[in-house]
Amino acid sequence: MSGPRTYLDCNASEVLCPEARDAMLAALALDGNASSVHAEGRRVRGLIEAARADVAALVHAKPSEVVFTSGATEANAWALSGFDCVIACGIEHDSILAANPRLMRFPARADGVADLAALEGLAAAAAKDGRRALVTLQMANNETGVLQPVAEAAAIAHAHGFDVHTDAVQAAGRIGIDFAALGPETMSLSGHKIGGPKGVGALVIRDGVQRQPLLAGGGQERRRRGGTENIAAIAGFGAAAAVAAKGLSARARIRALRDRLEAEVLKLTPQAVIVGGASARLDNTSCIAVPGQKAETLVIKLDLAGVAVSAGAACSSGKVGASHVLTSMGLPAEIASAAIRVSLGHASTEADVAAFLTAWTTHVSRSALAA
Ligand code: PMP
Repeated sequence: MSGPRTYLDCNASEVLCPEARDAMLAALALDGNASSVHAEGRRVRGLIEAARADVAALVHAKPSEVVFTSGATEANAWALSGFDCVIACGIEHDSILAANPRLMRFPARADGVADLAALEGLAAAAAKDGRRALVTLQMANNETGVLQPVAEAAAIAHAHGFDVHTDAVQAAGRIGIDFAALGPETMSLSGHKIGGPKGVGALVIRDGVQRQPLLAGGGQERRRRGGTENIAAIAGFGAAAAVAAKGLSARARIRALRDRLEAEVLKLTPQAVIVGGASARLDNTSCIAVPGQKAETLVIKLDLAGVAVSAGAACSSGKVGASHVLTSMGLPAEIASAAIRVSLGHASTEADVAAFLTAWTTHVSRSALAA
């Protein structure tokens, strides 16, 4: 990569915050295994427990409810294992859709919000069959940013006697989360979506709820997740959580940048569609489709112009075609294969928005631009 870059792909991975970097470097300087009783062990154990308190505070959970994992993919796989079947919305991340082979999928509506009437139908059918189902609904979608009715979905599931999981990866640090009041039994989090490092996350398990370990072995994480802890990553995750908790009140700055970007895009390309734009959304996310334009091509052109955005979820990039999220919303292929995701973060500036708009004017197809 040469020349200045404009990074607007924070839903794929948020920029590492300096506090997380410092905490990781400090942790790397320490030796010892957190399971050891000696002073070295106790010192690194202290880092883990401090990080656990910070992560718990970000989502209003108790420290005892936070179990560190290798990321949200592991947390989701763990949360969904051991059930007869999983009832999930089609807009979920692949790590949810692939976690349990017995998956019952319900769609989202065209506005990007999960269709709770369809959920109710599937839950009633699973209950009638006597199945032990888990209902899962993400808090915010990674492609559109649309907020999901998790508390309502949990009430539906609980009425049928089913447990509930929520993937809060994209919501954490961007909206307030009150795990104590929300409803689900479990919730997944990821370090690198909140300004921490990659390869660390957590499954939050409500006190009193039993879950068999996915990774059995050592007695780490109170026998719930075996494996010597990645101290530096956990310390970085904790530091990022503490920063994110303080920044929740300052989200208006990011929203103003996002709203300006969208307003200018609509001026330049009046036929552009902001997918989910009429729904309550994350402040930082914009899902933009110019009908007929191939998202993959536009992403490559913008990248060459120095601007990093994505076509759908980063994990699916390389898979050319329509986004499964937009397809589940019932949007036509013309839109679902045209949508790019622009996602801002704590380091985004006016200059980033200006650079995006310059690249957009140059690279969006001529025919799409306003005369
Ligand atoms: N859930 C959602 C909604 C995500 O966006 C992602 C990351 N793209 C994950 C889960 C997976 O998280 P991780 O990278 O920590 O495995």
